[in-house]
Amino acid sequence: MDTNALLRSLPKTDDVLACAEVAAAMPAIPRPVIVDAVRDAIESARARIIAGEEIEYDISMAAADALEIARRAQMPSLHRVVNATGVIVHTNLGRSVLSEAAVTAAEQVARGYSTLEYDVATGERGSRVAHVEALIVELTGAEAALAVNNNAAAVMLALAALCRGKEAIVSRGQLVEIGGSFRIPDIMRESGATMVEVGTTNKTHVTDYERAISAQTGLLLKVHSSNFRVVGFTEEVSVKDLVRIGAVNGVPVFEDQGSGSLLDLRPYGLPYEPTVQESVAQGADLVSFSGDKLLGGAQAGILVGRWEIIQALRTHPLARAMRLDKMTLAALEATLRAYRDPESVVREIPTLRMLTTPVAEIESRARELAEKIEVAVGPAADVAVAPDTARAGGGSLPLADIATFVVSVEPHTVSEVALEEELRLGEPTIVARIREGRVLFDPRTLLEGEDETVVGRLREILSRA
Ligand SMILES: *Cc1c(COP(=O)(O)O)cnc(C)c1O
Repeated sequence: MDTNALLRSLPKTDDVLACAEVAAAMPAIPRPVIVDAVRDAIESARARIIAGEEIEYDISMAAADALEIARRAQMPSLHRVVNATGVIVHTNLGRSVLSEAAVTAAEQVARGYSTLEYDVATGERGSRVAHVEALIVELTGAEAALAVNNNAAAVMLALAALCRGKEAIVSRGQLVEIGGSFRIPDIMRESGATMVEVGTTNKTHVTDYERAISAQTGLLLKVHSSNFRVVGFTEEVSVKDLVRIGAVNGVPVFEDQGSGSLLDLRPYGLPYEPTVQESVAQGADLVSFSGDKLLGGAQAGILVGRWEIIQALRTHPLARAMRLDKMTLAALEATLRAYRDPESVVREIPTLRMLTTPVAEIESRARELAEKIEVAVGPAADVAVAPDTARAGGGSLPLADIATFVVSVEPHTVSEVALEEELRLGEPTIVARIREGRVLFDPRTLLEGEDETVVGRLREILSRA
């Protein structure tokens, strides 16, 4: 057939809509979505024919294409994925997975009315942030606490409330950029604080701060380097020393801990990171950290510190613009509650569990997963287990090499690139890494039931090809 004949034989939208397969899909998928999908399917067939392809596009082909287009259109843009990368606090994949208790708490307040701003004892208006403040105070030993939308907001609020029109002194080694657009110098400018840089990239001394202090100084700022480390010939001034300099000069010390941690993870073989409690105990006037990095909760920025300082932040106009919603607050409260028992918290909070699972346990999970994959895909792939390195991610513990084991799959029926892509585009989305012709799956970040998902998808893709 020539091009014109092929174009004339393209099915009509109404005929495709009337066919049995499409009609059957209709109650589940809204009619307007299907109509658009059918038009898109026919249009792309038309474009291919015009481009020279000889396709006799009939109603059943159009129906199949349209249903696939409609299925994709119906898939929520924000949806769950399986993280097989071994990066635990994976920023692109939503950072921390919430604990069961946190999920339940968020669900409960989402499904009904709640005590968000209601004091049950008096029947009067209550405070939305009070739900978490007492817990944070209890866990950190600080005088007062405040939780806002995220740590970037916490830093912005602190600088705006304490240092607008004044100078904040910060080490040149700490002028970091954290993912995309959060750069300390930019936040500083936006907040109205003037940045005074001291020291050098690798070394900053007590005397550097002392010399920079003047009548204009509003804050001594310490920023966690998060996603990088300066190693070798380096020196930073400790919180303790900053507190001493601050006290002599009547200037408060604010530490942006970034990830922050309420738990010393060294007993689990992880590197030393100062905890929030330590900075508070050393006298930092204000400390901020994220709710969804090492803490393992919902997106939030937590501020702890001296009562008058927290009060200044609470009453600042920006605080309202940065406030948390009820689901996040509920999840955060449940997450914090788990920290009351330092023994069980590492099992309850997925981020901590993934970070601290002994490598021997990961190895045996990898062997089990490899066996299931082998059974499922047979000769379609070579399956092996190998030692590897997992990452904390999210700018947390940047240099920590977390020993792990991965299952590596070398597909024989498709390329490793095609396999990775199919896993990513399928349902559910599975995110895996590629290395040297193989696709890698790290059980350290696989959650309960996800082994079966991975096995099932590999069976589908590799048996089809
Ligand atoms: C991650 C991080 C931030 C930003 O925290 P968010 O919770 O992502 O807003 C700020 N400062 C430091 C040092 C960080 O590591």
